Amino acid sequence: MSEHSFATRAIHAGQAPDPITGAIIPPIYQASTHVQDGIGGFREGFEYNRAGNPTRSSLETQLAALEGGVKALSFASGLAAEDALLRGILKPGDHVLLGNDVYGGTYRLLTKVLAPWGIETTTVELADVDVIRAAIRPETKIVWLETPSNPLLKIVDIAQIVEVAHAAGLIVVVDNTFASPALQQPLALGADLVVHSTTKYLGGHSDVLGGAVVFGDDRYFDQVKFQQFAVGAVSAPLDAWLTTRGIKTLAVRMRQHSENAQAIAEWAESRPEFQDVFYPGLASHQGHEIAMKQMSGFGGMLSLGLSAGADAARAFAESTSLFQLAESLGGVESLIGYPPEMTHASVRGTALAVPENIVRLSVGIEDVGDLIADLEQGLDRLAR
Ligand SMILES: *Cc1c(COP(=O)(O)O)cnc(C)c1O
Repeated sequence: MSEHSFATRAIHAGQAPDPITGAIIPPIYQASTHVQDGIGGFREGFEYNRAGNPTRSSLETQLAALEGGVKALSFASGLAAEDALLRGILKPGDHVLLGNDVYGGTYRLLTKVLAPWGIETTTVELADVDVIRAAIRPETKIVWLETPSNPLLKIVDIAQIVEVAHAAGLIVVVDNTFASPALQQPLALGADLVVHSTTKYLGGHSDVLGGAVVFGDDRYFDQVKFQQFAVGAVSAPLDAWLTTRGIKTLAVRMRQHSENAQAIAEWAESRPEFQDVFYPGLASHQGHEIAMKQMSGFGGMLSLGLSAGADAARAFAESTSLFQLAESLGGVESLIGYPPEMTHASVRGTALAVPENIVRLSVGIEDVGDLIADLEQGLDRLAR
């Protein structure tokens, strides 16, 4: 499959028709165990669902092909994937450098769940390589980054961070949830591992929770696979199948998400009600140049800073109708959120706190004229 281009791989990798019936879509193997041909005679290596399931394997093959990795593992959630990766690779006393604007759940996992087991974490400004170099200790094992970040869509230079990290012998993990592999492929830029919340763009239809780890080479696979097997936070067959189905339209969806978000960002820049528009597709954005270099599109996420402040941002988040008020992102339907009290409530008042006057949009693939009209009527309601 690797000789094919992205959109083709997304549809065909791991998706061979059922050999027995010719069903063009591989079936959902809704089974907990597999019959053995004599003791230890596993058919295609399948034994018990926690160790392996054919539907999950299809998805894992597809995920590896999308990111250009050698292998992938699929989990029950993005955080379950992150947890298996971290516990598979780290041991007590190890230290992680974490971008200072990563997903709040990642910060919580490291500082609340893994810290009591001896994993240390420092949050750093990853845009400054001198800050990274200064924060590296003898015990540092991993640099963990997210670009574009949430909710300010900050862009950091993946290849540059890889260079600094690899010079110090560190492992680079990129959370590629916001861009998706349709727009950005960190392994090709030198990263060692990619993680995903497949709940978002990969699933794409707001109907499934899932996560993945994709491996650039074989070094860490067995350790993480062991965690998956020994703990069991695997994706269920139906969830794996739904994710597989979502991925088939990823390329075309990401094009439309990006086109709609760009149009909304440009509209928002022309409106005095917004003092800031955070979207990497705008020339005014802090990371536009780097984004041009490492992304093939700018994605569907953007944040808007209301000129009138926090109360106006809260009210605006409650004033739209096509943009529905909800957490999460990456589905075909547009969502709006107020990060300080929703996605980022757990980091309010910490070093990771976000501005109080912003709303975050997950721009869907509805007609963009309808979406802008919805935002305009929201502003009209604020003015009344
Ligand atoms: C949602 C999200 C996660 C966590 O994934 P879950 O599937 O909710 O466990 C991790 N990273 C990013 C960037 C996310 O948006």
